[in-house]
Amino acid sequence: MTAVETFDNFIDGEWRASATGRTYEKRNPFRPQEVVGAFPASDEGDVEAAVGAAANAYRSWSTMAPQQRGAVLVGASELIAARVDSIAAEMTAEMGKPLRESRGEVARGAETLRFCAGETWRAVGEIFSNSTTGSQIQAIRRALGVVGLITPWNFPWSIPLWKAAPALAYGNTVVLKPAQEAPLTALRMAECFADAGIPAGVFNVVIGRGSEIGTPLVTHPKVRAVSFTGSGPVGHQVRDLAAAHGKRVQLELGGHSPLIVLADADLARASEAAYSGAFWSAGQKCTATRRIYVHEAVYDEFRTLLLERIRRGVVGDPTHLDTEVGPLVNKTQMEDVLGAVERGRSEGGSIAAGGTALDGEGFLVPPTVFENVDDDAYLSREEVFGPVTSLYPIDSLEEAIERANGTAYGLSASLFTRDLASVNRFVAGVEAGVLRINAATAGGEPHVPFGGSKASGYGPREQGRAAREFYTESVTVYLND
Ligand code: NAD
Repeated sequence: MTAVETFDNFIDGEWRASATGRTYEKRNPFRPQEVVGAFPASDEGDVEAAVGAAANAYRSWSTMAPQQRGAVLVGASELIAARVDSIAAEMTAEMGKPLRESRGEVARGAETLRFCAGETWRAVGEIFSNSTTGSQIQAIRRALGVVGLITPWNFPWSIPLWKAAPALAYGNTVVLKPAQEAPLTALRMAECFADAGIPAGVFNVVIGRGSEIGTPLVTHPKVRAVSFTGSGPVGHQVRDLAAAHGKRVQLELGGHSPLIVLADADLARASEAAYSGAFWSAGQKCTATRRIYVHEAVYDEFRTLLLERIRRGVVGDPTHLDTEVGPLVNKTQMEDVLGAVERGRSEGGSIAAGGTALDGEGFLVPPTVFENVDDDAYLSREEVFGPVTSLYPIDSLEEAIERANGTAYGLSASLFTRDLASVNRFVAGVEAGVLRINAATAGGEPHVPFGGSKASGYGPREQGRAAREFYTESVTVYLND
């Protein structure tokens, strides 16, 4: 039996065990007998140490030439690019994402850092003239201070990084609380920053239960802002607590993304996008395709193509490079998904593919497709965080848009068509923060805004130049000599 490696928090430039002395084991969701590592079960004291370190580091980090901060980010991006394979392999081991997607996610992180490093060379404000004296008035953007980042397990590299990179570039210091299901990936991120020479205290990682360390982080008097990605109920709790304590707060929450396929669409591409959007990462994406509205003239053809694609798809060991659908992150998640499938059946839905867990130790649920699901049924309304999607026939784009808007969510939506007028109607009519034409509902670029409307988000968008709005504030300087 091999010894289980124990990992520490990263606080004030050092690897530190939790002051509680407690750890928890994280297991591999494909081979649950295999322990990936023992991780700190931190508490309020560890949060206090991390926030204190971040507060001490803030002045020198925020006042150095922005381009020097950018140089640290470039250094980290180069290290990440060189470590893609090892970081991705560990990510796959701890949370089950198929290796080919893990590699893409880690590599994209290097690009996010390069983009944010570039931002440090931009103008920091605008200059106006004083209306009485003609002297200068500057409106500059300035960092906030310590920011708390709370992140989910499903994009354990991208999400922490797309929050941390702009936060750091603009001069904030960071305390990251990653998900308990994916601690190792966050610690590898700290290692990349440390090896790139980030000063002590600028980037800190505290591992532990959300219920134990989330609240101390959100309410800490030295934390100026909280950026949260995760589920709605927890997000709302974080928002209310942060607001009550006078903090800036941003939420990225769940989704229920629709994909609309019109009669003139390229059905081969549309079915491919439906497959990847609904089933890659085992459907554990906030932007996963949960509802597919297909024009009745092409419904049967599209259905056949999708079911054929499912038959060709590879489900299984996420470490194999050809695997497209790996395990769900843990047993509870698998039981939730199977429970939702049961509910889908009991509410009158019929299953065209999948629907039961695969034999074996790993938490594998194959691509599952429902039909005959009512618009007010559970599957049409609630986010089921697994490889489950439903097909609905429609007879016009107008009908599809109305039904696409029928959930509380508004994260992403896709349309497949060759007709520009339909594209324009879709863009004008669909309530979502990310609209994708002839592309899957999932996916995003680091240099453009990302975020959801309605119940999918709260506060300014993330990523691209939009991140500046959240991680800086405006200061007006009346300059007289
Ligand atoms: P979650 O809400 O359970 O956890 C998110 C984070 O919050 C974790 O770090 C968790 O430890 C922490 N947390 C838990 N309780 C807390 C508390 N009381 N106070 C503060 N923090 C607390 O979500 P999850 O299961 O990790 O992630 C899946 C969810 O995330 C899905 O709903 C998915 O749609 C959503 N998500 C949204 C986006 C987006 O950008 N919109 C991206 C990815 C995932």
